[in-house]
Amino acid sequence: LNFHEMGLDDRILKAIANLGWETPTPIQEKAIPLALEGKDILARARTGSGKTAAFSIPVVQKILQSKQTSKEQCTKALFLTPSKELCNQAYKNLMELTSCCSREIKCVDVSPKVPLLTQRPKLMEKPDIVVGTPTRILAHIQAGNLSIKDSLEMLVIDEADLVFSFGYEDDVKAIIKQLPKIYQAFLMSATLSDDVLSLKKLVLHNAVILKL
Ligand code: AMP
Repeated sequence: LNFHEMGLDDRILKAIANLGWETPTPIQEKAIPLALEGKDILARARTGSGKTAAFSIPVVQKILQSKQTSKEQCTKALFLTPSKELCNQAYKNLMELTSCCSREIKCVDVSPKVPLLTQRPKLMEKPDIVVGTPTRILAHIQAGNLSIKDSLEMLVIDEADLVFSFGYEDDVKAIIKQLPKIYQAFLMSATLSDDVLSLKKLVLHNAVILKL
């Protein structure tokens, strides 16, 4: 399956072509169609596998689709990353993939290296996608800067194993409590440790497990 056969929006295909990506990586080939079908996914995948785009592409596709029927601006997707470097990478990846629809899709990163108050105005615009560390995202929810209770449709947790080893477990659990009853979730992890499997139970329903 190539990118053109996945039924992606032309603006995504154009961005992918601009990046010079010719074929999907194995994880992208498997994950993108399943994600577009609405499946929850647990992917065992390493950095370098193209895992970030494997989940960013369906997130962007679904947001573009939902904008055809509803004009309401709200935060629809949350990317949780366990470090500011991974936050920057995921944000950069999303900016590249939305380069041809940057007017339609607003993406904000809330890295812990920037003060909370500096980030507040951008969040008040209810960006479609918010990327950040669990601690920072929770701080924004608690400060009333970010509201997801009614609007969130997709949750992506990158490097889920590191979420635990870096001590973010409680923050992630607190964020999950703030989510609507129904949402689609994607977990990415280099290993499928007991911690990751317990997180899977908490956020994924009938998940497809991809081991690559
Ligand atoms: P990741 O595994 O998400 O950290 O991605 C590793 C690198 O691969 C990133 O720099 C991406 O820009 C690049 N990449 C992702 N998907 C593709 C693709 N289909 N073709 C070529 N490069 C890609």
